[in-house]
Amino acid sequence: MGTILVTGGAGYIGSHVARQLGERSERIVTLDNLSTGFRAAVLYGDLVVGDTGDATTVARVLRDYGVDTVMHFAAHIVVPESVADPLKYYRNNTASTRTLLQCCVEAGVRHFVFSSTAAVYGIPAGGVASEDTPTAPINPYGRSKLMSEWMLADVAAATPLRYAALRYFNVAGADPGGRIGQSTPAATHLIKVACEHVVGKRDHVAIFGTDYDTPDGTGVRDYIHVEDLAAAHLNALDYLRGGGAPVTLNCGYGRGFSVREVLDCVAAVASRPLTIREAPRRAGDPPTLVAEARLIGRILDWVPHYRDLPGIVGTALAWEWTLTDRGTDDVARTEQAKLSSPVVA
Ligand code: UDP
Repeated sequence: MGTILVTGGAGYIGSHVARQLGERSERIVTLDNLSTGFRAAVLYGDLVVGDTGDATTVARVLRDYGVDTVMHFAAHIVVPESVADPLKYYRNNTASTRTLLQCCVEAGVRHFVFSSTAAVYGIPAGGVASEDTPTAPINPYGRSKLMSEWMLADVAAATPLRYAALRYFNVAGADPGGRIGQSTPAATHLIKVACEHVVGKRDHVAIFGTDYDTPDGTGVRDYIHVEDLAAAHLNALDYLRGGGAPVTLNCGYGRGFSVREVLDCVAAVASRPLTIREAPRRAGDPPTLVAEARLIGRILDWVPHYRDLPGIVGTALAWEWTLTDRGTDDVARTEQAKLSSPVVA
């Protein structure tokens, strides 16, 4: 087996996948520009500090490490930011993916696992999206990822490269072993924000929109534990190695929770009430987005193990306390940077 290149492997989801790959004794190398990632999150293999949009670096890594599989996580992921600064998203998510793909084709990379998003569906009828629901993203983030999916499909039709595009729903939680988690400063995602409030980093949690056409008026999402999501990538790898055809799959559990239900769960897990403020809707948010999630189980033999919301929240909160014990986010960043991990500059 060749080496697996994990782009964005110092980030939240990439580091969980890389950890599981390392635990399985796969050969891996991480490429990350550390714009939002952390050296200390790279638990296995070398870290090359660089950009997926830098063809020279990417070509060198593919060659030097004998890469035959790429797992591509490096991306910006914040919907409201993509609305405010769309070109940042088209550069880092779309244009960089194009560069990466060109390097992959030139180096003869065989397998590509792509980190896509449920945001490609926009506002699906009934709030539930299956893989054949028409894609109609409503924000630049979703469009930047959908364009990458299209490139992948076209490249796979024209070359031997085969891919799995995994459309993530709302990823949350952390490594149950407590080694890594979501460390992103200035996080915007609901469970992370609520956990930051619990540990005292924020004085309240805002609910963005209470007048949606949903059972309690707040947005409904399909929250998936990062550990299950990471496992899906290893299954996708096995599938591609086994000769599987290019495939696009939803990664969710097929059930939704409202913002209020999530906040109730966080309060219950934390054993304390939260300070909640109702706020206007956030730009680019669909009311409901839940996966029709049967295909991934069938195609990849994927069986989730961490489906319960309290478990997701519990690991997220445990990680937040770990970060807090290390100091503020800025201090944590510095301290984590000092921790040694093999680095190739
Ligand atoms: N949300 C909220 N307050 C927050 C963050 C998020 O009410 O501080 C809501 C958001 O409007 C959406 C849901 O929580 O309905 C999930 O948002 P998140 O940013 O976690 O993920 P997204 O679905 O945008 O990828």
